[in-house]
Amino acid sequence: MSYAQLMETVGQVNDLLNTQSILSWDARTMMPPGGHETRGKQLSTLSVVTRDLLVSDRLRAQLDRAESEVAALDDEAVEKRMVAQVRQAVDYHLAIPAELTRKRVELGSIGHAVWAKARAESDFSQFIPILEQTVALNRELAEVIGYAEHPYDALMFRFEPGETVASLQPLFARLREALLPLVKAIGDKKQPRFDFLERHYPVDKQHEFALAMAQKVGYDLDRGRLDTTLHPFEVSFTRNDVRITTRFNPNYMAASLFGALHEAGHGLYEQGVDPAYTRTPFATDLVGLYAVGGVSFGAHESQSRLWENHVGRSREFWQVNFPEAQRFYPEQLADVTAEEFFRAVNRCKPGFIRVEADELTYDFHVMLRTDIEAALIDGSLQVKDLPEAWNSKIKEYLGLDVPNDAQGVLQDVHWSSGQIGTFCNYTIGNVMAGQLFETAKADPVIAQGLASGDYEPLRAYMVENVHQHGRRYSRDELLVRATGRTLDPEPYIAHLTAKYSELYGL
Ligand code: ZN
Repeated sequence: MSYAQLMETVGQVNDLLNTQSILSWDARTMMPPGGHETRGKQLSTLSVVTRDLLVSDRLRAQLDRAESEVAALDDEAVEKRMVAQVRQAVDYHLAIPAELTRKRVELGSIGHAVWAKARAESDFSQFIPILEQTVALNRELAEVIGYAEHPYDALMFRFEPGETVASLQPLFARLREALLPLVKAIGDKKQPRFDFLERHYPVDKQHEFALAMAQKVGYDLDRGRLDTTLHPFEVSFTRNDVRITTRFNPNYMAASLFGALHEAGHGLYEQGVDPAYTRTPFATDLVGLYAVGGVSFGAHESQSRLWENHVGRSREFWQVNFPEAQRFYPEQLADVTAEEFFRAVNRCKPGFIRVEADELTYDFHVMLRTDIEAALIDGSLQVKDLPEAWNSKIKEYLGLDVPNDAQGVLQDVHWSSGQIGTFCNYTIGNVMAGQLFETAKADPVIAQGLASGDYEPLRAYMVENVHQHGRRYSRDELLVRATGRTLDPEPYIAHLTAKYSELYGL
């Protein structure tokens, strides 16, 4: 009985979080610029109300009683896991003093404008005071959350539970060892033909084509829609309303296409969560206070990268689907072959900007940021020395000289909102995607489907092994259940090595 009461209160928390998500979606897609300030107030009011409900006397009394009710159950039992997740989240939020949260929200609200101006003027010095306070407040946050070895571990917990600086080090070392020689070897090799991607592609056609490809991989439009934004994202308000966005550049078609495939991958995850978990802890990130079914940011990214890269950038995908691309763009692609298109969308060209990076160089942007954040938090790197640390890593990894702060240390929005601890998820997602894809593709039905343009067997595999479970299992539990082992970079390395060796004749 108390268990049922607890679940109803958690359901209310989930309702509040979904309401916040709807307001955020609106702010990023539809809202006129004038709504900015009052929308910010609405969102911060709702987030206070939500947090207060989660740690309220009512919920905690229900939690105490529910814990005794489920005590005799097996540790794996759904009810026991749900209750344990609520307890973990309540303890997490109670550990954080209201004053610290207030200071972080305040800093976040002024940080964006300072960062935007500093970036526009490419002047890091303007952003230093904000970033120094951000680091100090996050360091404080790490102390109250607690950690065993490194303060950065406490900050990653919210995004990638269980990941630590110590566990990332060997992973990053292995990726650098395997991938850096590939980047260097590509160096001056002949680049594929690319001109046709930069022809004029009308935005309405791009919208139609991106949506057609998202539907092709199984994104359900009865429970979804595609809108326009500056920075593509996916957001869900329960599994029954899962929206994606992409951006449109009339002179570069690949951005909207792969943006949509990426976000459709995120969307498939949320659309595939077991309906029985709606409004429960298995569809609510109670620690991060976000209504989401995906179990970690890395696990979520594994699904987007899988559909974007392993499927959407594969030769077999374009062997099957290029004729459809030509039907949408008869003039722009008249003199192009499927093979040329495949090669163009896989061009490897080291650049300064993370969000524009190709599949092979992307992880270097992520590793650099993760290492820098950890060093800022443990005090081994000072904020004022950041540009130098950044630029020397870009030189070491990608052989490039960063021309200015806007194309270097000021490019990402994350730090402007006071957020530290979330970069590693991108690389974990890549690694996890490689591992899941290798296992899935060993099934001949799935492999045959990919070769013939039927993506349903692969989607069904992901629903079975990842999506349906929502937040029931941890990321590593999912991996062990699906592939027999925890996070393993080798399949991902093998995928990149084979692909780029063949593409560039290495
Ligand atoms: Zn993503």
